[in-house]
Parts: sequence; C-alpha cells; structure tokens
Amino acid sequence: MKKAQCKKCLNKFHEKEIFTIQQFQYREEPTYKWSLNFFKKLGIGEWDSFCESCLKSYLKKSNDTWNESKNTKA
Ligand SMILES: [Zn+2]
Repeated sequence: MKKAQCKKCLNKFHEKEIFTIQQFQYREEPTYKWSLNFFKKLGIGEWDSFCESCLKSYLKKSNDTWNESKNTKA
C-alpha cells in the first residue's frame, strides 16, 4: 500500500484516504473560485494532499473567513 503525507501535519496515511481542497467544489458557498483563491494565499493548491482532520480545519477556517467577508460587505 502506497503512503501519502499530509502537507499540514506531516502525518502519513494510506493513499486512498487523501483529501484535497477539490472536495470544496461541492460546497454551495463559498464558491469554488473563492475557495481556490483563499487557499492560494495560504500556499495550498488543488493537488496538495491532506488528512481528514486537517482538511476539516481548513473547511472551518474558509467558512469563517467567508462569513466574515460577507458581514463586512453588508
Ligand atoms: Zn494532516
């Protein structure tokens, strides 16, 4: 079984358990375009691999930032 490494916490895990920010294209909002731009600023690309818990923390972080930016506009 091939091993992959999480870019954030550097934990090793099985390749089939890789998560990437491409998961976020299924969110209704923020839009995927917004997400890509958000992660680009963090130095994260569509092909970077993460474990499930790190991806979840990025999910929360991006949602929070998105909500904050909506509030500032309103
Ligand atoms: Zn991780």
